[in-house]
Amino acid sequence: MQNQRMPAPLPTPSSKPAVKPLTGPQKALRKLGLNRPIDLALHMPLRYEDETSLVKLRDVREGDAAQLEGVVTHSEVKLIGHRQLLVTLDDGTGTCLLRFFTYYPSQQKALATGNRIRVRGEIRGGFAGLTMMHPVVKPAGGELATALTPVYPTVAGLPQTYLRRAVQAGLARAELPDTIPPQYLHEISLQPLWNMRKALYFLHNPTPDVSLAALQDHSHPAWQRLKAEELLAQQLSQLQSRRARARLRAPMLASSVLGDGPLAAVGGAAQAQATARDVNLTATQPLAQRLLATLPFQLTDAQTRVVAEITQDIARPVPMHRLLQGDVGAGKTVVAALAAAVCMDAGWQCALMAPTEILATQHFAKLVGWLHPLGITVAWLTGSQKTKERREMLALIASGQARLVVGTHALIQGKVQFHKLALAIIDEQHRFGVAQRLALRTKMALDASATGEAHLAQGHRGSGFAGPQGVAPSDGEAATRNESAAGVEPHLLMMTATPIPRTLAMSFYADLDVSTIDELPPGRTPIVTKVVHDTRRDEVIARIGDQIAQGRQIYWVCPLIEESEALDLTNATETHAQLSTALPGVMVGLLHSRMPVLEKKAVMGQFTGGQMAVLVSTTVIEVGVDVPNASLMVIEHAERFGLSQLHQLRGRVGRGAAASACVLLYSTGDAPRLGETARARLKAMLDTNDGFEIARRDLEIRGPGEFMGARQSGDAMLRFADVTEDAHLLDWARRMAPVMLDAHPALAEQHVQLWLGGKAEFLKA
Ligand code: ADP
Ligand code: MG
Repeated sequence: MQNQRMPAPLPTPSSKPAVKPLTGPQKALRKLGLNRPIDLALHMPLRYEDETSLVKLRDVREGDAAQLEGVVTHSEVKLIGHRQLLVTLDDGTGTCLLRFFTYYPSQQKALATGNRIRVRGEIRGGFAGLTMMHPVVKPAGGELATALTPVYPTVAGLPQTYLRRAVQAGLARAELPDTIPPQYLHEISLQPLWNMRKALYFLHNPTPDVSLAALQDHSHPAWQRLKAEELLAQQLSQLQSRRARARLRAPMLASSVLGDGPLAAVGGAAQAQATARDVNLTATQPLAQRLLATLPFQLTDAQTRVVAEITQDIARPVPMHRLLQGDVGAGKTVVAALAAAVCMDAGWQCALMAPTEILATQHFAKLVGWLHPLGITVAWLTGSQKTKERREMLALIASGQARLVVGTHALIQGKVQFHKLALAIIDEQHRFGVAQRLALRTKMALDASATGEAHLAQGHRGSGFAGPQGVAPSDGEAATRNESAAGVEPHLLMMTATPIPRTLAMSFYADLDVSTIDELPPGRTPIVTKVVHDTRRDEVIARIGDQIAQGRQIYWVCPLIEESEALDLTNATETHAQLSTALPGVMVGLLHSRMPVLEKKAVMGQFTGGQMAVLVSTTVIEVGVDVPNASLMVIEHAERFGLSQLHQLRGRVGRGAAASACVLLYSTGDAPRLGETARARLKAMLDTNDGFEIARRDLEIRGPGEFMGARQSGDAMLRFADVTEDAHLLDWARRMAPVMLDAHPALAEQHVQLWLGGKAEFLKA
């Protein structure tokens, strides 16, 4: 009995009136996210139908959407494989056959011979003459519509007529204040007359004289206004978050040796790179300096420059929020390590989070290799860890003994308590979802504020933000900030090998600073890319044999193992078996996402160690894996991969001095040739090795929505504006946002609320 759930209390007469259950269409509205009047008002038509006029059959052509009236001259049910209702309509200028495969008796009655009716539908040709399939039927003679009829995106269970009424009602009730001061609108010759209310009213009820083309291609002033408003909201919200961050405090991660020297010495971004290298790295940062000295290579100029950008940022008492982008193999890891070294030098903790276990393991090995000899304890955390080890790691992290922590998203889980986290680095940040990035920021903020308070209590040189070695804020501004600060956050460095094209960066990452490594380390031979039809697989396998004979290693990547057999992908297992047979005496490994983590690690270890010559895998190796001896990458069913993904995979080779190649095996299946976008992707891979060019093409092929992935998905997406097409509006919004925030803060806030409501947070992740 005790296990039984308590019945829900019955509503008493005094309680709130019972909530009426939602009707089907109401539920469907919810499903579309159309809850508030403003949501409905912003639900834009897909297209319009013209019910404002009648046409004559003599004037119509095949493919026209037509509305006409006439007399039914014939009506019969016929069995042509299937029961059909066939109706002949005569409008005095010609006849048209109306065909219905399903119909109610009432409809049949309305379509009886002799009735005058009005029909609307698409005219088709065919050997029976002009035909309409399932036209909309009404009695003739009714009033004609005065506006074009909008057709909305909808879902099952939500008829257009219901949705139309709901949208009109939403439009009538939505508050649509004019939030943009007219003088701003003049800047891009938007007429203040076309305010939101008028624009939306028009787009839901356009007059028949309007150019349908201007509605369709969104060049109409009403559309321009809508897009300008949306972009302004986006820019305002990002600017707000940038300014909010500027009010936060962060530990100042500068050298304890030169005090407030490095900032002054390094100066502005225009400072010569040589100076940055000499002053910032060799003279001021003992740990960073020692790390540099032990590296088996010299930093490239680009690496030196971004390290300077980062170290300048983290020396300030304001949280850094920086994206480090650089093509695959550009050497981002060492930049991260140097930033971490500066952080640890100042006596703080640093965390590095990677999207996969394999990558985390590899970072861990690399960083331990670099930092352990320098006396640094590196902890590590992943989901697959044994409880005992995990407990030890958590203790190392909480006590502060581990000054660097490397791991997967296990780093942001509840139990993890940092001692004094000051710098968080996220590798391959685009692989983390919006939710994870938000979680990280929230978690870090909490932990850091606890840390901040601990130091306040210790009263280091009277500053809450002194590091353990007592680096006090060096200027008055910092002191004031500390006083009035709203909170404390660590510095955040995000890294990505998928560069974001400029327009997107301006739009979606406007609250980020961006550092770019635009140069590869020297001595890399460019990768030769080949596109090869799957029928020539045997030749490719023979080539693998040659490579192995030269002591090289090979990746062979297959599409994911799918549940559905219908997809008929040659899966990794089959290929593994095939290669094992074809290459006797060669160690061929298999790696896929469904394997237990320990097994994955063992396989990866054998490949990294050089014992394994060929690694067949699914895309688990896509991100970050670094085995310089691998010189051939074969991608099977390359036509199924996205462009950025192909480029990332290709970047796994060409990391050493040996000539490297990437073979894109493709198959057309039953089709005579590849689809257009697949062809465009493979062509882009042939055309260029440059990650920025690849990103630009990828954006072109996929469009901004797809390209941005999770960040842009769902509610956070720009619904109306297109950052490439509407570049002039984006440019305007970027210029107006700071002006408006300063001159009209209340209107700015109202504008953001109207457009983004509670979603603004989401955009900032
Ligand atoms: P990514 O930017 O893709 O993360 P990695 O950090 O994995 O690239 O670096 C790729 C390889 O290049 C690694 O083996 C790394 O040690 C090496 N590397 C990094 N910087 C340099 C450099 N300046 N000169 C030579 N090799 C470098
Ligand atoms: Mg990397």
